[in-house]
Amino acid sequence: MAIVVHKYGGTSVGSPEKIRNVAQRIKKVVAAGNQVVVIVSAMGHTTDELIDLMNQITDSPDPREYDMLVSTGEQVSASLLAMALQAMDCPAVSLTGGQAGVVTEDIYKKARIKHVHLERMQKELKEGKVVVVTGFQGIDSKGDIITIGRGGSDTSAVAIAAALKASVCDIYTDVDGVYTTDPRIVSEARKLKSVSYEEMLELASLGAQVLHPRSIECASLYDIVIHLRSSKNETIGTYIKSAQAIDKEAKKMEQKDTVRGIALDENIAKIGILKIPDKPGIAAKIFGALAAESVNVDMIVQSMHSDKSLADMAFTVERPDLKKAVKVTEMMGKELKAENVIADPDVCKVSLVGIGMVSQPGTASKMFAALSKNNINIQMISTSEIKVSCIIKKEQGKRAVQILHKAFGLEKVS
Ligand code: ADP
Ligand code: ASP
Ligand code: MG
Repeated sequence: MAIVVHKYGGTSVGSPEKIRNVAQRIKKVVAAGNQVVVIVSAMGHTTDELIDLMNQITDSPDPREYDMLVSTGEQVSASLLAMALQAMDCPAVSLTGGQAGVVTEDIYKKARIKHVHLERMQKELKEGKVVVVTGFQGIDSKGDIITIGRGGSDTSAVAIAAALKASVCDIYTDVDGVYTTDPRIVSEARKLKSVSYEEMLELASLGAQVLHPRSIECASLYDIVIHLRSSKNETIGTYIKSAQAIDKEAKKMEQKDTVRGIALDENIAKIGILKIPDKPGIAAKIFGALAAESVNVDMIVQSMHSDKSLADMAFTVERPDLKKAVKVTEMMGKELKAENVIADPDVCKVSLVGIGMVSQPGTASKMFAALSKNNINIQMISTSEIKVSCIIKKEQGKRAVQILHKAFGLEKVS
């Protein structure tokens, strides 16, 4: 009997009707002779609503209590799905991350998964039950409930698939695959048949929320194919797998699409610290202080000043960290006698991603030209072998994605 691992996201289990629909689908997979493990997210916007409730109680939640609170959403959907299956005469059991054997690091809010102990899941499967597991959570060495970062149920699913030695992990969501960009922003976006781990990891890390970045790292590490597909139909979605496997199937020797997709990240903010000493150790000091407060810094630009002993520094952080990051930067600013610290929450990051870029010069300049032709000012730039990112005004983000999608002809079949 094959073990299959499926994951259903928040919108796919957003109402009793949708939960019943998921149960019907799972029942069919069981009837076809499979053992099924299903990972679920919280219903609809439950996690956001729990965080709203928390914000009405405190500005500075204890991280342990944060995890206790936000992990409850998945418990609701898992138990309801198990009940829906039972009501259809399909034996099922729901398990929390801890009960299912998901062990994490001892870090609240964003732990990594360390192991998945299989005994309990295997016992339930052997008894002929569908095992429904809460995504997004596990248990630490103290026995506390730990969450693994927003959107983390994808990673829970892939980690469980890896532990069960499944070769594929089906992730069901509200779109029928990975598109060249978010189809909510560009209606002509094209569904991709397959995307390499490297490209998908970049797209997800750069803001395409369709998959949690760590799920791709885990899939790549254990060579698991992610099949991202719709929970509304049976259509084949997008396969996320190794670049070598994709090229071999396409019988390509070397050529690759220059730009594979475009991502938009609206969840960032920019901080500038002006007129600081231009000498060794200053960057280490500022970013050391930010790291000590667990602030993740992304793009960093240091610029020269007319006075050669001074420099300006600008960097981006995740929006929820802005308050904390400004506090730390202001402290550093005082210490370094900076002229000023400025915070700008009205920015976003638009990125082009594609493995083929490395061998095709001109992608970045074409991007800059398309943006400038449309009067979009670029505030910061960062490049790597497979991506070009620009920080621009937040209100121009969606338009920039539409312009770039057209400029690079991504709607056309490659
Ligand atoms: P789930 O609740 O199933 O985890 P998410 O809301 O996290 O679903 O992710 C699905 C959403 O990701 C889609 O509704 C879509 O708007 C968005 N998205 C962003 N970029 C892309 C892309 N390149 N391809 C497909 N969907 C994308
Ligand atoms: N429910 C969690 C969140 O909203 C985890 C997930 O959906 O993957 O972030
Ligand atoms: Mg998601």
